[in-house]
Amino acid sequence: MTFRRTALVATLSVVALTAAACGGGDEETATDVPVAEAPEFEAGTTMAELAEAGSMTVGTKYDQPFFGLEGLGGELEGFDVEIAKIIAAELGIAPEDIDWEETPSSVREEVIEGGEVDMVVATYTINAERAERITFAGPYYEAGQQIMVLSENDEITGPEYFTENPDATICSVRGSTPSEQIRPYLANEGQLTLFDEYSQCADSLSTGQVDAVTTDNVILLGFVSESDGEFKLVGEQFTEEPYGIGIEKGDVEFCQFINETLAANEEAYVAAWEATAGQIEGTQTPELPEPNECV
Ligand code: GLU
Repeated sequence: MTFRRTALVATLSVVALTAAACGGGDEETATDVPVAEAPEFEAGTTMAELAEAGSMTVGTKYDQPFFGLEGLGGELEGFDVEIAKIIAAELGIAPEDIDWEETPSSVREEVIEGGEVDMVVATYTINAERAERITFAGPYYEAGQQIMVLSENDEITGPEYFTENPDATICSVRGSTPSEQIRPYLANEGQLTLFDEYSQCADSLSTGQVDAVTTDNVILLGFVSESDGEFKLVGEQFTEEPYGIGIEKGDVEFCQFINETLAANEEAYVAAWEATAGQIEGTQTPELPEPNECV
């Protein structure tokens, strides 16, 4: 089985359409947030600019099942996609007026700093190093790093395995927190394979080029769920990965607006989860976490 996009989308589209049919939404969006009509914002704010433009650019992932995944017709599906739609709706921007930009892990700060996107919603862990370059709204979800292996593998039970077995290999993605946090467990550099996208790691696990994949539990669970029993998760989560929404450094007003929007739309937040990541076996509907201070 290949885990590149096209293999994943067929199944996921069915899930999304079913979810939309059951949830009373439409094919476009799993949530039911009405698009605000001519909302008013203080002049000069990002909100006023975006509302005036009637469109915005959002960076997200295109290859992560249930979070940000490109469908056959180019449409995007997933929890991050729905979160972005909730925020856009409060700005008076309809889902079809969002310009999506594929944003692999390693370029997220760069595209925000360069003004190429208005925000990034992309399984994006809030941490101090990144917060030197950008501002994070949120968190809107708390994930944790874990390890995925072939179902038939009973040897690898956690990150310590890689310390004790210098020949064992593990895959992650450039510019991600898991790719750094696995390093202390490795006996040597050669054990770590890095790609730009997690689907490439899943393919490498499938073909036996690597022994394991590491990233956030919910991302891995998406691949497990699409693998027809080929993959499984092992061990406990060994880090905390609070997901934030990345925006231009210092845009405190926009950050506060995003936090207030999410808090005011908890029903849509739950619906968004249930239509996307909530479809994965082994996940639980989260409660919206308390936001951090906007800085
Ligand atoms: N949440 C982690 C991060 O932001 C891993 C997932 C990802 O690479 O998007 O680096």
